[in-house]
Amino acid sequence: MSTYRAPLAEMHFVLNELAGLSQVATLPGFEDATPDTVAAILEEASKFASDVLDPLNRTGDTEGSRLLENGNVKTPAGFKDAYRAYCENGWNGLTKNPDHGGQGLPQLVATAVEEMWHSSNMAFDLCPLLTQGAIEAIELVGTPEQKSRFLPKMVSGEWTGTMNLTEPQAGSDLAAVRTRAVKQPDGTYRLKGNKIFITYGEHDYTDNIIHLVLARTPDAPEGVKGISLFIVPKFLIDEQGRIGKRNDVRCVSIEHKLGIHASPTCVMAYGDKEGAVGYLIGEENRGLEYMFIMMNLARFSVGMEGVGIAERAYQRAVAYARDRVQGKAVGLDKAIASNAIIEHPDIRRMLMTMRAYTEALRAVAYVTAAAMDNARRHPDASARKRHQAFVDLMIPIVKAHSTEVGQQVASLGVQVHGGMGYIEETGAAQHLRDARITTIYEGTTGIQANDLIGRKTARDGGATARAVVAEIAEVATKLRRHSNTALHPIGASLEEACTALLQAVDFVVANYASRAREVHASAVSYLHLWGMTAGGWQLGRAALIAADAQVSGAGDNDFLASKIATARFYALSLLPQAASYARAVVQGSEPALELAAEQF
Ligand SMILES: Cc1cc2nc3c(=O)[nH]c(=O)nc-3n(C[C@H](O)[C@H](O)[C@H](O)COP(=O)(O)OP(=O)(O)OC[C@H]3O[C@@H](n4cnc5c(N)ncnc54)[C@H](O)[C@@H]3O)c2cc1C
Repeated sequence: MSTYRAPLAEMHFVLNELAGLSQVATLPGFEDATPDTVAAILEEASKFASDVLDPLNRTGDTEGSRLLENGNVKTPAGFKDAYRAYCENGWNGLTKNPDHGGQGLPQLVATAVEEMWHSSNMAFDLCPLLTQGAIEAIELVGTPEQKSRFLPKMVSGEWTGTMNLTEPQAGSDLAAVRTRAVKQPDGTYRLKGNKIFITYGEHDYTDNIIHLVLARTPDAPEGVKGISLFIVPKFLIDEQGRIGKRNDVRCVSIEHKLGIHASPTCVMAYGDKEGAVGYLIGEENRGLEYMFIMMNLARFSVGMEGVGIAERAYQRAVAYARDRVQGKAVGLDKAIASNAIIEHPDIRRMLMTMRAYTEALRAVAYVTAAAMDNARRHPDASARKRHQAFVDLMIPIVKAHSTEVGQQVASLGVQVHGGMGYIEETGAAQHLRDARITTIYEGTTGIQANDLIGRKTARDGGATARAVVAEIAEVATKLRRHSNTALHPIGASLEEACTALLQAVDFVVANYASRAREVHASAVSYLHLWGMTAGGWQLGRAALIAADAQVSGAGDNDFLASKIATARFYALSLLPQAASYARAVVQGSEPALELAAEQF
């Protein structure tokens, strides 16, 4: 059996050496993020993940959440207590505003912590993840009264939050939302409509649930410009902040699904009787605009689910490969009758692939998290703007590439286990099943790719994209010229990836308007080209830092050597895919559209 252990040495390396934690800690308000404090936080989080969440992952999967006859939802045994302990330990408000009871820590630190929750129990963490989104929206545009009424209890975790966007006819296209909200003489609204797929829409963790709901007012314009955002508490709250009457909202069923069985995915009915009481957030008709601002964080968090699952699947595969004895490994001691499968070269290939992808995804995500902190807090406005442009470019990449690759890694984890991987007892299959949703919710991979080619590349004529490629090319040059010749092939491969990426950027910018269908047909290839190259960039930086540290004698030599070996594997075995992705973008999109719809 494998027990989750947070990869603390690796996390510290990425936080400090690649993402620049010491610089982030100089930003106004982040002075408390000292190396000692961060180390203590990660240590405590790793214990909670290993001791409390990891043991519940499998039982949560087999037991699942259940809808009771009285309309309540019962979560699996142990989850409610784990949630209470999670909140008592202050994990819910790590990045939140201290004015509302949060700890005001950088997103970068919270990202490492969040990775541990996803690795150890993704279904558990979905509840806090959605609550963070709801808090973000109220913080962003709520009135002072809404903030003081809802935020302290949501930040402490006493109440949880949900995001109610999806309806049967409105999934990727939220402009099709039909839930109605009618203004009342007292300034509140009454909502009527149905929402589907609402994560933790009902549960037994807390006394109240604060739903954030997208709906239309009666005379709102059609489409995206006519959607407003409302707070709809499960129980109304009186002037003194006490829980009052039950609101007209209920969970009518929960879905039976492939994975994340512990997380209840609810069908919600609003306004079966007199209408659910809702409070407008911000201005009418601007709901989708607000939602998109806060979606950055939610999409990033789902990307971190990809990283977390990849790490967990990797750890489980390594443990099994050390243990399982099968056959004689080629080229090793002939006197040994049979070896552990970790000695077979093909198992090494799979484990290195899992490891290299996971480290690449993690590094790209943490670097993006540091840019999020700088985009919010850097004292210089032009630096804030530059960091925000980088974040905007990277969010669809972190969301979609990390989750798609996370699934590949989880699938390799099954393969390393052989037949035992397909059988549920080992836990490898659960990671694959759990990971499968991550490329769908918070905007599918296709939707992320559309965002990347349109708003993030074509809109500024490719300026941000080209600036980032130039930074990557500088790293490639350093690698090629380094005194340690083991780094040269990494530089050469990264250089080729940069050339391929630039061709693709030029193609997207030049053809986005005139050949829109073709550019969209290859958008996902463009997204993976970015993801692969960004991974090579960060692993290349890691190799440079490790090689310099080896020369100066700083650090653990085994660890440093493993950083170089992993970067070499990624550069030589995985990064060459960049060239094929670029070819698919530049040459390969037309055939995708050649058949008429009736020919399928
Ligand atoms: C377990 C689970 C939990 C969820 N949690 C929540 C939640 O808490 N709150 C919430 O509001 N929703 C939630 N959702 C809903 C989720 O966000 C949607 O399922 C998702 O956005 C996709 O919408 P859809 O299912 O309607 O698929 P569709 O939009 O019908 O998409 C079907 C296919 O068409 C593609 N497609 C659609 N439009 C385009 C386009 N313009 N360009 C290219 N391809 C396109 C998609 O990529 C996809 O492959 C959850 C869903 C699940 C399954």
